[in-house]
Amino acid sequence: MKTPVPDYLSEIRDLCSVGEDGELADYIPELAAVDPDRFAVSACTMDGVLYTAGDAGTEFTIQSMSKPFAYALALRDRGVDAVLEKVAVEPSGDAFNQISLERDSGRPRNPMINIGAITTHSLVGPPGASEDERDQVVADGLAAFAGRRLEVDDAVLDSELDTAFRNRAMANLVRAGGIIDSDPDEIVRGYTRQCSYRVTVGDLAVMAVTLATGGTNPITGERVISPRASRQVLAVMSTCGMYDAAGDWMSTVGIPAKSGVSGGILGALPGQVGIGAFSPRLDAHGHSVEGIRTFERLSSDMELHIMNPTISEIDPVRSVRVDRSTGRRTFRLQGPMTFAGGEKVVRTLAEIPDDFSEVTLDFSRVSVVNGSARRMLLEAMRRLSAEGHVVGLADPGRRLPDPDLGDGTRPVFRRAAR
Ligand code: GLU
Repeated sequence: MKTPVPDYLSEIRDLCSVGEDGELADYIPELAAVDPDRFAVSACTMDGVLYTAGDAGTEFTIQSMSKPFAYALALRDRGVDAVLEKVAVEPSGDAFNQISLERDSGRPRNPMINIGAITTHSLVGPPGASEDERDQVVADGLAAFAGRRLEVDDAVLDSELDTAFRNRAMANLVRAGGIIDSDPDEIVRGYTRQCSYRVTVGDLAVMAVTLATGGTNPITGERVISPRASRQVLAVMSTCGMYDAAGDWMSTVGIPAKSGVSGGILGALPGQVGIGAFSPRLDAHGHSVEGIRTFERLSSDMELHIMNPTISEIDPVRSVRVDRSTGRRTFRLQGPMTFAGGEKVVRTLAEIPDDFSEVTLDFSRVSVVNGSARRMLLEAMRRLSAEGHVVGLADPGRRLPDPDLGDGTRPVFRRAAR
């Protein structure tokens, strides 16, 4: 059998690449020269399988889709607080090229609009980095997200630099306001270069899934940024990534995303998938018309809206076995343990009578334990132990990291139940 996913993506191409509506971006002259009828779509899974359909070999410039990744690099290099000091995280409701600054602090409203992205570019790399050093950090960072070195499209870069009057004005404005301390011309050059890397739709999906996994590129295995930084990037993409259409996008599509004027859109659904779409004709907000149609279709067909409740039908307590001769109770747990699963387990454990019996938790069928579930489970184990139960742990896959009960005791290690 062949997996039906590629056929599904080909169907999406046939359904979504029919329109003639929308206009090519022409404020960067070179962008007006592309073939408007190109279309490509891609999806990359959490374990690094890449599916594509359409003109998947076509390269286009990354443009504003570089912004979340530059933001990620700034967060990595300077820390969340230092970046927040310079760039806020409020949706501006304005177009990508508006001068949206906070009234009191003078900070750009968010890192996804140009003025915020220009500022963010100045925060990539160590403080005091030269233009070349920043360029190198961006080149290496984008390569780590994409899993391959990307090339700059010099024609697009030159074409945009020739006409970057507005971006230069904004860089000068944030320089005058003391938000950036580097030379504004240098920053605009670096930012424009950052926007000029050539990507394919497959690169978009891989870069997006690297955010969806919490910062590890599943194809290369490289940890590019921390889970905390990925969360921050995804949060800002979901509120600000689609500029003045962000609210509409989140309610209809519901996937944290970023578009670029070259006609690409990338979307990252945490814990599930990274998606790329490309088609150069744009709507009035500067988003690819067919790209939006593609995301709308994927979201509704595949139920990818982030606000869909993730219903786990698996009872986290698979079974409870009581050994008649010893009185030992073995709780066999299963599935992913997050807040909801952990709460159900500790509620079940709370029903154990005060009979000083042995209680063993068997994690051999648990797939993953997050921090919240870990804390609840360890606290429940600590309480059981304090009440006089002997607490045992069977965890051959080491799903429960560092099972320290915090009161000087550790659970008794046991073999998993058969
Ligand atoms: N390089 C473009 C600019 O700064 C990016 C805009 C976009 O893709 O939305 O104008």
